[in-house]
Amino acid sequence: MIAAIEAIRERIRIAAESCGRRQDDIHLVAVSKTVPAERVRDAAAAGVRILGENYIQEARDKLEALSDLELSWHFIGHLQRNKAKYAVRLFDLIHSVDSIRLAREIDKQAAKAGKRQAILIQVNTGKEATKSGVYEEDALALAREAAQMEHIAVRGLMTLPPYFYAPEKVRPYFRALRELSDRIRSAGLPGIEMTELSMGMTGDFETAIEEGATMVRIGTALFGERV
Ligand SMILES: *Cc1c(COP(=O)(O)O)cnc(C)c1O
Repeated sequence: MIAAIEAIRERIRIAAESCGRRQDDIHLVAVSKTVPAERVRDAAAAGVRILGENYIQEARDKLEALSDLELSWHFIGHLQRNKAKYAVRLFDLIHSVDSIRLAREIDKQAAKAGKRQAILIQVNTGKEATKSGVYEEDALALAREAAQMEHIAVRGLMTLPPYFYAPEKVRPYFRALRELSDRIRSAGLPGIEMTELSMGMTGDFETAIEEGATMVRIGTALFGERV
């Protein structure tokens, strides 16, 4: 576990330096879906601080089992509106907001919880039917709506691009997300920060870093193949 984490940190450092970025500007989100709490505890002991989870029920149990640790939990899966309440209670950042209706529900639940919920807008850069996320051309409208919501803080964008074995083929999707983020930022919406780009996984995170990722979501390379 420690060796895997160190190897990933080293690869993040090299990728960052290769394009003149600072290692510290890239956050490792360790994706712990299906990974038992005790292995997450080992990862935390080895210095992992941010965990990414896809399923509310699984995350609830794990957070409880690890409540003695100082960890930041991020929700990266598809979020149904009827689960927004739990997501707001459990997570520091929700990466996967993909509709105005979901944003409204999060806003409502965050108001009840007395919290300002940080979110990212998920963009379906490949326009794949199997993936969630707004299309690029609809992201600004969602950002504009969310900017009006008092209990939501938009921090940036996230994407899950089409899968290619060769990371070079994914580069255009990462670049498109960064360019979209620049366009939304220049719209100057009050209350919107476009500082985070959540992109890159085990197979392509170095390319994502070269294209501006500030958060890489890595599961397999840290915890091994999921069963
Ligand atoms: C599972 C998952 C990851 C991690 O993928 P790996 O290829 O195992 O690194 C990243 N992002 C999302 C949204 C995921 O569901």
